[in-house]
Amino acid sequence: MSSHSFDSFQLRPELLKQIHAANYHTPTPIQAQAIPVALTGKDVLGLAQTGTGKTAAFVLPILNQLIDGPRGQLRALIIAPTRELAEQIHESIRTLGKGTGLHSQTIYGGVSMRTQVNALRRGVDIVVACPGRLLDHIQQRTIILAKVKILVLDEADQMFDMGFLPAIKNIIHSIPQQRQTLLFSATMPPDIQKLTATILKDPVTIQVEHTKPLEAITHAIFPVKAHLKTDLLLAMLEQTRTQLVLIFTKTKHRAKSLDTLLQKKGYRCASLQGNLSQAKRQAALNGFKDGTYDIMVATDIAARGIDVSLVSHVINFDLPDTTEAYIHRTGRTGRASRTGDAFSIVCPDHSDDRDMIRQIERKMGSPLKELTLDAFDYNRVNSEIPKGAFARGPRPAARGGRQWRSK
Ligand code: AMP
Repeated sequence: MSSHSFDSFQLRPELLKQIHAANYHTPTPIQAQAIPVALTGKDVLGLAQTGTGKTAAFVLPILNQLIDGPRGQLRALIIAPTRELAEQIHESIRTLGKGTGLHSQTIYGGVSMRTQVNALRRGVDIVVACPGRLLDHIQQRTIILAKVKILVLDEADQMFDMGFLPAIKNIIHSIPQQRQTLLFSATMPPDIQKLTATILKDPVTIQVEHTKPLEAITHAIFPVKAHLKTDLLLAMLEQTRTQLVLIFTKTKHRAKSLDTLLQKKGYRCASLQGNLSQAKRQAALNGFKDGTYDIMVATDIAARGIDVSLVSHVINFDLPDTTEAYIHRTGRTGRASRTGDAFSIVCPDHSDDRDMIRQIERKMGSPLKELTLDAFDYNRVNSEIPKGAFARGPRPAARGGRQWRSK
């Protein structure tokens, strides 16, 4: 457990070589704890989110165990919720397993079944799969799982959220009981606890703290009815002590109109949207950096490359479409060891917003703080924006509360 370097693990030299080539000097906490246990063949229940190095924590023990043994026989199966994650894991196997002669293949929907069938026929050692397509292969008998001796379920909580539980149960029926199982999850809701009890044998539980980069940022959501989003944004800006503020909207049009509104309200504001010429874009960016503007309104695409160390607040006027975009957006604050706030205005009435918040919380491994502006009338029937009126409220004093989410 107390390993300070990868050399202290019982890993094969060909793996150590690739670890060094990848520039991994010190094992991350999840690696320090999980690798020695997994190498002994024991089952592992890992509570860890993305960004903790959990992929290498299971990839290295798998490679190490498969090095000795026949090639071209499917001996390790990794199940992940999304194609993107499957690809990432596959990449990690390719990099770390370079000198081992072991082959990995991804299996997920949306691409031709035939290519996957051909690869499986040629013989692979490791499969990284999403549940739906894997089940298709099992049902069509184009994949044989009889030799699988290591099973990994990655981001189990997300797979549950996506409704993959029946598929996973089905898949597990096709895998020999005599095996090692490693299950990773950012959270441990009752459904997963039940599953772990049935599929893990005497597991060693490993839990790690959240990753560093996220700690510098305070994440919070501000629930409000859709027609009051703009009013709430104005109230937030009014009541919060900020340096530079970066506001994200879903569309170019919204970025522009918010910019116009904020300028009318007297803010030194600019917007970045795809329609701008390169010269105007650069002028807006420079103005944000040199303090001409305090607020920048942008879309995801237009905001690429903004790296401003003084951004104190990222405000999601509209939530992004993916958790990756959320991490990306909010990573713009809290840079260079400054602290920052990431605020999201969300509409509990909209199922898209509710779903995205849940996904973000899973990704981060903890619930987002829910805040209410004290001096804001959440029950008003009409937005005050058209009238141009805006009542000044007292200083922040945001308070917590969570009335709308059933956990
Ligand atoms: P993961 O949580 O598995 O998605 O890994 C997050 C990132 O950390 C990936 O880009 C890995 O390549 C990287 N990483 C994993 N382990 C280490 C390590 N021991 N040292 C440095 N970087 C690492």
